Amino acid sequence: MDAMAETQDAFADTLKKIIRTNGPMNIAAWMAHCLADPRHGYYRTGEPLGAAGDFVTAPEVSQMFGEIVGAWLIDLWQRQGSPKRLNLVELGPGRGTLMADILRVAKLDPGFSAALNVHMVETGTALKKAQEAALAPFSCAKEWHDSLASLPDGPLYLVANEFFDALPVRQFVCQDGSWAERMIGLDAEGKFTFGLGPGRPQKAPEGAAHGDVFEERPAALPVMDALSARIAKEGGGALLIDYGHAEPGFGDTLQAVSRHEFADPLKNPGEVDLTAHVDFAALADAAVSAGAQACGPMCQGEFLLRLGLTERAGRLGFGRGEEEQEALRADVIRLAAPEEMGTLFKVLAVTPPGLVPPPFEET
Ligand code: SAH
Repeated sequence: MDAMAETQDAFADTLKKIIRTNGPMNIAAWMAHCLADPRHGYYRTGEPLGAAGDFVTAPEVSQMFGEIVGAWLIDLWQRQGSPKRLNLVELGPGRGTLMADILRVAKLDPGFSAALNVHMVETGTALKKAQEAALAPFSCAKEWHDSLASLPDGPLYLVANEFFDALPVRQFVCQDGSWAERMIGLDAEGKFTFGLGPGRPQKAPEGAAHGDVFEERPAALPVMDALSARIAKEGGGALLIDYGHAEPGFGDTLQAVSRHEFADPLKNPGEVDLTAHVDFAALADAAVSAGAQACGPMCQGEFLLRLGLTERAGRLGFGRGEEEQEALRADVIRLAAPEEMGTLFKVLAVTPPGLVPPPFEET
């Protein structure tokens, strides 16, 4: 057995010990252990992104994604009178690709470039190193943070791509008109298994039928509250991009992915990615409760196309060979086509009250 497999087995044993001592744990606790355990957590130690990793995100598909996000942020800054100082923040920046693409676009606006300080909110050590390398060519001030709490004052221009889906969810199951919480315990052979325990949602939805699963993500609320209150008070805006649903609904969306394939969420803890759909209505409610404006959500395909994805691909492909043009066309399809990332992924913008920037004002 190699050393890695041995430590991961030790991690499974630790989780079993916790369950034997404390009783079954809920899905949120399981996700928190598996993703964020300081020594064994999936995002703490590894470099899960990219073709060689477990999954590919939009910024890893094409530079056009980050360029459009960057142009959106610069436009929003101009609409607010181009403040002389701003915090350019990314939550969960992965390999740093998105921020690097934003900073390349930012060079086109010397005022924006001169005003910005980069703040990366990241808890993973290997990913932090990758981000430092990706941003090394840019001379602007850069800081890394464990959470939003340590960001300096000032307007906040923030982006989070596939960040919220990695925050833990709780799952509740409707049982003859009342609720129970989905838990993870041990079966007779000592293997991890799903079960039910006491627990009910904070905001239980109407119309649940027996067996329906409802998910809540308590960890998203303090993050939404912090960024929205800041944007309402000091200006700026946030673009939150993720896969999920626009309206709250029922369904078990907990998903494990390893090497680009679906995996068993109870097997190999700490070695597989665990995510669940983002409830955009819950994020929008939190933004509005904190005094900010919520715009959208809008499907990623529509957002990118309205902001000129096809034109950008046309420009990048101009004068290039057939193969490169074909690759650009494939990227546009991957990012925007309904059967690819175009519909499942959605974009929610958080802005100061009353400010509805493009392309959201057309809806
Ligand atoms: N935004 C990137 C990466 C998405 S993967 C991209 O689009 O390619 C999720 C990212 O969120 C990783 O960088 C992971 O380490 C980070 N992350 C997960 N949970 C976090 C938390 N609680 N605090 C800060 N970062 C977190």
